[in-house]
Amino acid sequence: MVTPLIAGNWKMNGLGENLAEAEATARSLAETPAKARVAICPPTTLISRMAEALRGSAIELGGQDCSPEPSGAFTGDISGAMLRDAGARLVIIGHSERRAGYGESDATAQAKARAAIAAGLEPIVCVGETLEERKSGRAVEIVTAQVEGSLVPSVTAPFAVAYEPVWAIGTGLTPTLAGIEEIHAAIRAALVRGLGEAGRTAPILYGGSVKPANAAEILAVPEVGGALVGGASLKAADFLAIIRAV
Ligand code: PEP
Repeated sequence: MVTPLIAGNWKMNGLGENLAEAEATARSLAETPAKARVAICPPTTLISRMAEALRGSAIELGGQDCSPEPSGAFTGDISGAMLRDAGARLVIIGHSERRAGYGESDATAQAKARAAIAAGLEPIVCVGETLEERKSGRAVEIVTAQVEGSLVPSVTAPFAVAYEPVWAIGTGLTPTLAGIEEIHAAIRAALVRGLGEAGRTAPILYGGSVKPANAAEILAVPEVGGALVGGASLKAADFLAIIRAV
Protein backbone atom coordinates (compact mmCIF):
# COMPACT_ATOMS: atom_id res chain seq x y z
CA MET A 1 0.00 0.00 0.00
CA VAL A 2 1.52 3.31 -1.12
CA THR A 3 1.36 6.21 1.35
CA PRO A 4 -1.28 8.69 0.18
CA LEU A 5 -0.18 12.15 -0.92
CA ILE A 6 -2.09 15.29 0.04
CA ALA A 7 -0.74 18.22 -2.01
CA GLY A 8 -1.84 21.83 -1.74
CA ASN A 9 -1.83 23.95 -4.89
CA TRP A 10 -1.68 27.61 -3.88
CA LYS A 11 -1.91 28.72 -7.53
CA MET A 12 -1.16 32.47 -7.91
CA ASN A 13 -1.92 33.14 -4.25
CA GLY A 14 0.50 33.86 -1.45
CA LEU A 15 2.87 36.56 -0.23
CA GLY A 16 5.44 36.39 2.54
CA GLU A 17 2.73 37.00 5.15
CA ASN A 18 0.99 33.78 4.08
CA LEU A 19 3.97 31.64 5.11
CA ALA A 20 2.31 31.64 8.54
CA GLU A 21 -0.35 29.24 7.21
CA ALA A 22 2.30 26.75 6.09
CA GLU A 23 4.09 27.16 9.43
CA ALA A 24 0.85 26.46 11.32
CA THR A 25 0.33 23.31 9.25
CA ALA A 26 3.91 22.21 9.99
CA ARG A 27 3.47 22.81 13.75
CA SER A 28 0.36 20.63 13.85
CA LEU A 29 2.06 17.86 11.87
CA ALA A 30 5.07 17.99 14.22
CA GLU A 31 2.71 17.40 17.17
CA THR A 32 0.64 14.71 15.45
CA PRO A 33 2.27 13.27 12.35
CA ALA A 34 0.10 12.82 9.27
CA LYS A 35 -0.80 9.41 7.90
CA ALA A 36 -0.16 10.89 4.44
CA ARG A 37 2.76 12.53 2.71
CA VAL A 38 1.99 16.24 2.72
CA ALA A 39 3.15 18.75 0.12
CA ILE A 40 2.55 22.42 -0.55
CA CYS A 41 3.07 23.89 -4.02
CA PRO A 42 3.31 27.64 -3.40
CA PRO A 43 4.01 30.21 -6.11
CA THR A 44 7.64 29.95 -7.23
CA THR A 45 8.50 33.22 -5.48
CA LEU A 46 7.77 31.62 -2.10
CA ILE A 47 9.46 28.24 -2.51
CA SER A 48 12.85 29.09 -1.03
CA ARG A 49 11.36 31.18 1.80
CA MET A 50 8.91 28.39 2.60
CA ALA A 51 11.71 25.83 2.48
CA GLU A 52 13.58 27.93 5.04
CA ALA A 53 10.50 28.42 7.22
CA LEU A 54 9.61 24.71 7.15
CA ARG A 55 13.14 23.37 7.54
CA GLY A 56 12.99 20.07 9.46
CA SER A 57 9.25 19.65 8.89
CA ALA A 58 7.73 16.69 7.08
CA ILE A 59 6.04 18.96 4.54
CA GLU A 60 7.50 18.64 1.05
CA LEU A 61 7.45 21.54 -1.38
CA GLY A 62 6.51 21.57 -5.01
CA GLY A 63 6.41 23.88 -8.00
CA GLN A 64 3.28 24.48 -10.07
CA ASP A 65 4.86 24.12 -13.52
CA CYS A 66 8.32 23.73 -15.02
CA SER A 67 9.94 24.29 -18.37
CA PRO A 68 10.55 21.32 -20.65
CA GLU A 69 14.01 22.82 -21.23
CA PRO A 70 16.92 22.50 -18.81
CA SER A 71 18.16 26.12 -19.23
CA GLY A 72 18.63 28.85 -21.80
CA ALA A 73 16.88 31.76 -23.49
CA PHE A 74 13.32 31.20 -22.24
CA THR A 75 12.43 34.47 -20.57
CA GLY A 76 10.11 34.02 -17.62
CA ASP A 77 10.33 30.23 -17.51
CA ILE A 78 11.55 28.19 -14.55
CA SER A 79 13.49 24.95 -15.01
CA GLY A 80 13.17 21.80 -12.94
CA ALA A 81 16.70 22.29 -11.66
CA MET A 82 15.79 25.82 -10.48
CA LEU A 83 12.77 24.48 -8.60
CA ARG A 84 14.89 21.80 -6.98
CA ASP A 85 17.58 24.32 -6.12
CA ALA A 86 14.91 26.47 -4.43
CA GLY A 87 13.81 23.53 -2.27
CA ALA A 88 11.06 21.82 -4.30
CA ARG A 89 10.88 18.04 -4.53
CA LEU A 90 7.67 17.77 -6.58
CA VAL A 91 6.07 19.72 -9.39
CA ILE A 92 2.53 19.94 -10.76
CA ILE A 93 2.50 19.30 -14.51
CA GLY A 94 -0.28 19.85 -17.05
CA HIS A 95 -2.78 21.48 -14.66
CA SER A 96 -6.00 22.25 -16.52
CA GLU A 97 -5.43 25.97 -15.96
CA ARG A 98 -2.23 25.62 -17.97
CA ARG A 99 -3.79 23.35 -20.56
CA ALA A 100 -6.71 25.76 -21.07
CA GLY A 101 -4.96 29.10 -20.52
CA TYR A 102 -1.65 28.40 -22.24
CA GLY A 103 -2.59 25.75 -24.78
CA GLU A 104 -0.54 23.00 -23.15
CA SER A 105 -1.05 19.64 -24.84
CA ASP A 106 -0.42 16.11 -23.63
CA ALA A 107 2.90 16.23 -25.52
CA THR A 108 3.88 19.40 -23.62
CA ALA A 109 2.93 17.79 -20.33
CA GLN A 110 4.99 14.72 -21.23
CA ALA A 111 8.03 16.86 -22.13
CA LYS A 112 7.68 18.82 -18.87
CA ALA A 113 7.30 15.63 -16.82
CA ARG A 114 10.42 14.22 -18.47
CA ALA A 115 12.37 17.42 -17.67
CA ALA A 116 11.08 17.38 -14.09
CA ILE A 117 12.22 13.79 -13.59
CA ALA A 118 15.61 14.59 -15.14
CA ALA A 119 15.94 17.35 -12.53
CA GLY A 120 15.12 14.94 -9.69
CA LEU A 121 11.56 16.16 -9.15
CA GLU A 122 8.46 14.01 -8.74
CA PRO A 123 5.86 15.20 -11.26
CA ILE A 124 2.16 15.25 -10.39
CA VAL A 125 0.64 14.93 -13.86
CA CYS A 126 -2.88 16.38 -14.05
CA VAL A 127 -5.63 15.07 -16.29
CA GLY A 128 -9.38 15.66 -16.39
CA GLU A 129 -12.34 16.14 -18.67
CA THR A 130 -14.36 19.30 -19.31
CA LEU A 131 -18.07 19.46 -18.52
CA GLU A 132 -18.89 19.15 -22.23
CA GLU A 133 -16.77 16.03 -22.51
CA ARG A 134 -18.43 14.54 -19.42
CA LYS A 135 -21.91 15.35 -20.72
CA SER A 136 -21.09 13.65 -24.02
CA GLY A 137 -20.24 10.44 -22.12
CA ARG A 138 -16.56 10.59 -23.14
CA ALA A 139 -14.91 11.22 -19.77
CA VAL A 140 -13.18 7.82 -19.51
CA GLU A 141 -11.98 7.99 -23.11
CA ILE A 142 -10.66 11.58 -22.75
CA VAL A 143 -8.89 10.99 -19.46
CA THR A 144 -7.38 7.70 -20.64
CA ALA A 145 -6.00 9.44 -23.75
CA GLN A 146 -4.57 12.24 -21.58
CA VAL A 147 -2.82 9.72 -19.33
CA GLU A 148 -1.41 7.82 -22.31
CA GLY A 149 -0.26 11.05 -23.98
CA SER A 150 1.23 12.68 -20.88
CA LEU A 151 2.97 9.63 -19.46
CA VAL A 152 6.74 9.43 -19.82
CA PRO A 153 7.32 6.07 -21.57
CA SER A 154 9.11 3.46 -19.43
CA VAL A 155 9.39 5.82 -16.49
CA THR A 156 10.76 4.18 -13.35
CA ALA A 157 11.20 7.34 -11.22
CA PRO A 158 8.41 8.25 -8.78
CA PHE A 159 5.49 10.23 -10.18
CA ALA A 160 1.82 10.79 -9.38
CA VAL A 161 -1.26 11.39 -11.48
CA ALA A 162 -4.01 13.79 -10.40
CA TYR A 163 -7.52 13.32 -11.77
CA GLU A 164 -9.04 16.79 -11.76
CA PRO A 165 -12.33 17.16 -13.64
CA VAL A 166 -12.09 20.68 -15.08
CA TRP A 167 -15.69 21.44 -14.08
CA ALA A 168 -14.96 20.54 -10.45
CA ILE A 169 -11.99 22.87 -9.99
CA GLY A 170 -12.89 25.84 -7.83
CA THR A 171 -16.63 25.37 -8.41
CA GLY A 172 -17.73 23.47 -5.29
CA LEU A 173 -18.93 20.68 -7.59
CA THR A 174 -17.57 17.15 -7.39
CA PRO A 175 -18.32 13.95 -9.31
CA THR A 176 -20.25 11.21 -7.52
CA LEU A 177 -18.06 8.81 -5.59
CA ALA A 178 -18.90 6.15 -8.20
CA GLY A 179 -17.83 8.62 -10.91
CA ILE A 180 -14.48 9.19 -9.19
CA GLU A 181 -14.02 5.42 -8.77
CA GLU A 182 -14.73 4.78 -12.46
CA ILE A 183 -12.13 7.29 -13.67
CA HIS A 184 -9.50 6.28 -11.14
CA ALA A 185 -9.90 2.64 -12.21
CA ALA A 186 -9.48 3.68 -15.84
CA ILE A 187 -6.34 5.67 -14.98
CA ARG A 188 -4.86 2.73 -13.08
CA ALA A 189 -5.61 0.43 -16.02
CA ALA A 190 -3.90 2.87 -18.41
CA LEU A 191 -0.85 3.11 -16.13
CA VAL A 192 -0.52 -0.66 -15.88
CA ARG A 193 -1.00 -1.05 -19.65
CA GLY A 194 1.69 1.56 -20.29
CA LEU A 195 4.19 0.73 -17.55
CA GLY A 196 3.49 -2.80 -16.38
CA GLU A 197 4.12 -3.42 -12.67
CA ALA A 198 5.56 0.09 -12.22
CA GLY A 199 2.15 1.46 -13.10
CA ARG A 200 0.60 -0.14 -10.03
CA THR A 201 2.29 2.01 -7.41
CA ALA A 202 1.97 5.60 -8.64
CA PRO A 203 -0.56 7.41 -6.42
CA ILE A 204 -3.62 8.68 -8.28
CA LEU A 205 -4.83 11.84 -6.53
CA TYR A 206 -8.30 13.28 -6.86
CA GLY A 207 -8.55 17.06 -7.22
CA GLY A 208 -11.47 19.44 -7.63
CA SER A 209 -13.32 21.12 -4.75
CA VAL A 210 -11.90 18.85 -2.05
CA LYS A 211 -12.96 20.36 1.28
CA PRO A 212 -12.90 19.25 4.93
CA ALA A 213 -16.55 18.19 4.53
CA ASN A 214 -16.03 15.79 1.60
CA ALA A 215 -12.38 14.73 2.02
CA ALA A 216 -12.96 11.53 4.03
CA GLU A 217 -15.49 10.03 1.64
CA ILE A 218 -13.42 10.92 -1.44
CA LEU A 219 -10.19 9.60 0.06
CA ALA A 220 -11.93 6.29 0.87
CA VAL A 221 -12.79 5.63 -2.79
CA PRO A 222 -10.79 2.69 -4.24
CA GLU A 223 -7.66 3.84 -6.12
CA VAL A 224 -7.85 7.37 -4.69
CA GLY A 225 -4.30 7.74 -3.41
CA GLY A 226 -4.57 11.27 -2.06
CA ALA A 227 -5.80 14.69 -3.06
CA LEU A 228 -4.64 17.76 -4.93
CA VAL A 229 -6.22 20.65 -3.06
CA GLY A 230 -6.56 24.19 -4.39
CA GLY A 231 -8.61 26.75 -2.44
CA ALA A 232 -8.84 24.70 0.74
CA SER A 233 -5.06 24.43 1.01
CA LEU A 234 -4.61 28.17 1.60
CA LYS A 235 -5.79 28.06 5.22
CA ALA A 236 -3.99 25.76 7.65
CA ALA A 237 -7.22 24.77 9.44
CA ASP A 238 -8.90 23.54 6.25
CA PHE A 239 -5.78 21.93 4.83
CA LEU A 240 -5.14 20.13 8.12
CA ALA A 241 -8.72 18.87 8.26
CA ILE A 242 -8.21 17.33 4.81
CA ILE A 243 -4.84 15.86 5.80
CA ARG A 244 -6.44 14.36 8.93
CA ALA A 245 -9.19 12.78 6.82
CA VAL A 246 -6.71 10.16 5.51
C1 PEP B 1 -6.68 22.67 -8.27
O1 PEP B 1 -6.58 23.75 -8.79
O2 PEP B 1 -5.79 21.83 -8.46
C2 PEP B 1 -7.85 22.40 -7.43
C3 PEP B 1 -8.12 21.17 -7.15
O3 PEP B 1 -8.58 23.48 -7.01
P1 PEP B 1 -9.82 23.48 -5.96
O4 PEP B 1 -9.47 22.53 -4.85
O5 PEP B 1 -9.91 24.89 -5.48
O6 PEP B 1 -11.02 23.03 -6.71
